[in-house]
Amino acid sequence: MRLALFDIDGTLLREGIAPKLAFARALRETYDTTGPISGFRFAGMTDPQCVAEIMRMAGVPEDVIRERRDACLDRYVEHLTLEMRNHDGAKIFPGVKELLARLRGREDVLVGLLTGNVERGAWLKLGRFKLGDYFQFGAFGNEHEDRGELAKIAVEKAREILGRPVKGDEVTVIGDTPRDVACARAIGARAVIVATGLVAREELQAAEPDVILDSFEDVEGTLQAICP
Ligand SMILES: [Mg+2]
Repeated sequence: MRLALFDIDGTLLREGIAPKLAFARALRETYDTTGPISGFRFAGMTDPQCVAEIMRMAGVPEDVIRERRDACLDRYVEHLTLEMRNHDGAKIFPGVKELLARLRGREDVLVGLLTGNVERGAWLKLGRFKLGDYFQFGAFGNEHEDRGELAKIAVEKAREILGRPVKGDEVTVIGDTPRDVACARAIGARAVIVATGLVAREELQAAEPDVILDSFEDVEGTLQAICP
């Protein structure tokens, strides 16, 4: 049995400007500042982490950040729904649908999400490209701000589904940033990285994933990388 855990942004799809605009509005409404959001790199971070980091840089006190964070993320999802309608910049990467369909069709693979997106945000982004049905379960940013802890939550959920413990070497984490590699290592999993995100290849190489792919276009090769 192989557990395949997918990141969303930069791995399956690119959302364009909508999430950043939604974030900015939510931060403004919740904390009365957007902080240094325009230059902020979201890649690989969980949504609650992004809120905390940006507001820390804006000088918002730690207790205020914590108190208002869930409300801010609720606002974010509301704005995301609207901004996604306003902006066409989203794109699904080549090979993604075929890859997910092939994995989902296999009885020896359980396909899940391991994403820093809050759950409602994740389903919104996937829904735009009708990708939601490919995933049997997921661990989401609202469940923990630390990606390594999210990986553990995903494995625990898989254990409940399978009715038996899941070992690290049965798991493949698929993402687009060094943070995805780090969270794979947190559970002793294989790390397959696709260079379709915003992180430079040298930076990806330095994180030492098991495999780096240019894209999922070669679906056979990608299946081999995920299920060695
Ligand atoms: Mg990503």
